[in-house]
Amino acid sequence: MPSKLIGVDVGGTTVKFAIFNVHGDIQDQWSFPTDPLDNGNRVVPDIINSIKHRVQLYDMKLSDFYGVGLDFPGTVTDHGRAVVGAYHLNWETPHAVKQPLEEALGIPVILENDANAAALGENWKGAGNNSANMLMITLGTGIGSGIIAGGKLLTGYLGSAGEIGHICVDPNGFKCSCGNMGCLEEYASATGIVRVAHAKAEEYEGNSKLKAMLDQGEEVSSKTVVDLARDKDYLAEQSLTQSCTYLGTALSYVGNTLNPETMIIGGGVSAAGQFLLNLIEKPLREHLFPTMKTSTQLKLAELGNTAGLIGAASLVLSTIDDSALTTTERIAKQMVL
Ligand SMILES: [Zn+2]
Repeated sequence: MPSKLIGVDVGGTTVKFAIFNVHGDIQDQWSFPTDPLDNGNRVVPDIINSIKHRVQLYDMKLSDFYGVGLDFPGTVTDHGRAVVGAYHLNWETPHAVKQPLEEALGIPVILENDANAAALGENWKGAGNNSANMLMITLGTGIGSGIIAGGKLLTGYLGSAGEIGHICVDPNGFKCSCGNMGCLEEYASATGIVRVAHAKAEEYEGNSKLKAMLDQGEEVSSKTVVDLARDKDYLAEQSLTQSCTYLGTALSYVGNTLNPETMIIGGGVSAAGQFLLNLIEKPLREHLFPTMKTSTQLKLAELGNTAGLIGAASLVLSTIDDSALTTTERIAKQMVL
């Protein structure tokens, strides 16, 4: 009888694996570097081999598992069978994943986008507290987001729902990688925060360590901007406030549309902690509809980079028929969407 779940987080640099019990506790974890060579055709066989090897190594059987949930840095398409637009894997066109994995492993396989999986993971075991209405925004190189509304992951017509990073915050602003102008991602992602700092530095003549660093061509990261803002460097404060004002305002648009209970900020930039939340919170509360001003919670993510893995595994649990589960397993299943 199966009793465990496998979660796989397929990233641009690393493929991470974990074995879970039905309560979402990690029992084993491993990873290997992503190999995008050969048009990304090595990724799926590498995942199959790694799972088989690990299962064998610990004297387990594939039939001990309910299934495998995988998340990808791309869009899941073809009715959950393929992934497209995963550029870090060299998967520009749709790449079949579900069928080859199910054929090789003989257990159910479920695919999801990484930002959606992270939202599911945070909701199951992290800051979301199993809310039926929540969203998570991941501030990294880009901005990813996942939205749970009315107890369901919001996917939209083409699976593109929740592109909060591409809400326009300045119609005359920076050009976005998506082709549009002034998307939030260009201002509030890790790279966006640095971009705003560069733009502000060009028109600032006063004293500032950040200005001096940028003028001298020193390497400046979003962490540099945050740390200097914390030290009350004028340009860094102005710059980070601008980024967070755009972010908080964009979140108010989503809030006013969907009325989530909780908004979770994750990703590398969220390491800035409460200092960052305070800067986002002001414009957010200012623009939220009165009934939501105080009731909407803004929180930091709690699971770090395991959120996607946990969310991917939760997808397997949510598809198991209740009749196949013990009472405790059924209770655990009720905790996932
Ligand atoms: Zn965009």
